[in-house]
Amino acid sequence: MSVEISFFEQVNRSFDRAADLTDYDPVLLSLIRRCNAVYYISFPLKRDDGSIEVVEAWRAEHSHHKLPTKGGFRYSLGVSEDEVMALAALMTYKCAIVNVPFGGGKGGVKIRRRNYSDDEIERITRRYTYELQKKNFIGPGVDVPAPDYGTTSREMAIMCDTYTALTPDKLDAHACVTGKPVAQGGVRGRTEATGRGVFHGISEACAIEGDMRALGLQPGVGGKTVVIQGFGNVGYHAALYLHEAGAKVIAIAEYDGAIHDENGLDPVAVQAHRNDHGTILGIPGSTTLDNSLDALELECDILVPAALENQIGADNVDRIRAKIIAEAANGPVTADASEQLAERGVMVIPDSYLNAGGVVVSYFEWVKNLAHVRYGRLQKRWQGQAYRDLLSEVQKATGHEFPPDVMRTFLNGPDEQDLVFSGLEETMVAAYQEIRERKARLADACDLRTAAFVVAIDKIVASYSDLGIFP
Ligand code: NAD
Repeated sequence: MSVEISFFEQVNRSFDRAADLTDYDPVLLSLIRRCNAVYYISFPLKRDDGSIEVVEAWRAEHSHHKLPTKGGFRYSLGVSEDEVMALAALMTYKCAIVNVPFGGGKGGVKIRRRNYSDDEIERITRRYTYELQKKNFIGPGVDVPAPDYGTTSREMAIMCDTYTALTPDKLDAHACVTGKPVAQGGVRGRTEATGRGVFHGISEACAIEGDMRALGLQPGVGGKTVVIQGFGNVGYHAALYLHEAGAKVIAIAEYDGAIHDENGLDPVAVQAHRNDHGTILGIPGSTTLDNSLDALELECDILVPAALENQIGADNVDRIRAKIIAEAANGPVTADASEQLAERGVMVIPDSYLNAGGVVVSYFEWVKNLAHVRYGRLQKRWQGQAYRDLLSEVQKATGHEFPPDVMRTFLNGPDEQDLVFSGLEETMVAAYQEIRERKARLADACDLRTAAFVVAIDKIVASYSDLGIFP
């Protein structure tokens, strides 16, 4: 994909469009848009065959207006200083949009994950964590990484283990990363959080009748055709929840090709096929598109890019036929393409909002680690008993018997995952409404991305306002 300007410049272009709609001090705005700190590291890796290679890595902390900074950590050949700065900037705005009290951070190691063994990945992850710790670029109150492209809860467990070994007397050390396995202090629901948040964001957008009619669509997710690009953590879970809500996933694109079936694909069956065959290609009933990018151009209601940045740009934007583009990945649509799509009346639900579910649930995990207690542990029994007493009084007074499944929901009380999913849904719904209302109050030409940036800028400015430095 030919790219017009750098990724960080693209994020700043969106920022500038939004900043032009505010009347804040230009010096304050220029302070917000800059990246506060970037750390570049290179270190040797001993490969399993005994050879040595040099690995390059970065961590960017875009904004220290709130601490810790927070953001993913990826393994990808595309990692660069520009990329981590752009992704860290997006994290700053994302955290503000969904009201989590963090600045934005992002890190990455420039490798292709699948070319390295698990042992090599462990060595890289430990060394990277050690280097971050040496320069105070990681810690519960400093900077808290999370899983991202090419990384999973396993890498988070390794980072946590390395950090806690280096800081043995730190009571809150487990809060140094999020997205950990539950046994290592993770929170239930984090693995699926980003995809689930993507689903809530799409559902909320699709629930608004007037907005759907303007696109020539019926309200609701049910029956809508969906194309997914990237069937990893985010893409799989987004596909799964959309499928369960009655949407029809007609195509899924991966790096080695795409599968297409107008009757709809079952994400669970596709995942099972990949587990057995090492690829999503060849699932019975589907046709294969050899060029994975062709899937983006299929006619559909909702296109969900969930792989990497710069997937829709000058080369293909004219051929995109989706009515809604739901940015599950970070930066999948270039700045120029985004402007063209807005002119064509395509609804783009922006990354800075849509994939925030991961950081929302990471926030819950961080709070859990600082509190040292599982969500629901204190109130579950009490709440179950209170409902039991109440329902039995209602049954006695009315003679009405509640169905067993209703009774079970009430009597069990909420467990950790129930509370996490409830907090996630509430956050995603409230944030969408806030962005949409701001869009309605701004100029006609304002798209959801610009409105989301204005919401973020307002909140970040508010955190500087008590300093008395800026008018
Ligand atoms: P992942 O590594 O779990 O999955 C990415 C998938 O995309 C992989 O299956 C990979 O094979 C596939 N892929 C790679 N190149 C492709 C191509 N050219 N065409 C189609 N598929 C391709 O990563 P993830 O965690 O799902 O992250 C995906 C995106 O979501 C990234 O932009 C990431 O920054 C963003 N994101 C992730 C999280 C999170 O919690 N994991 C949170 C917010 C945003």
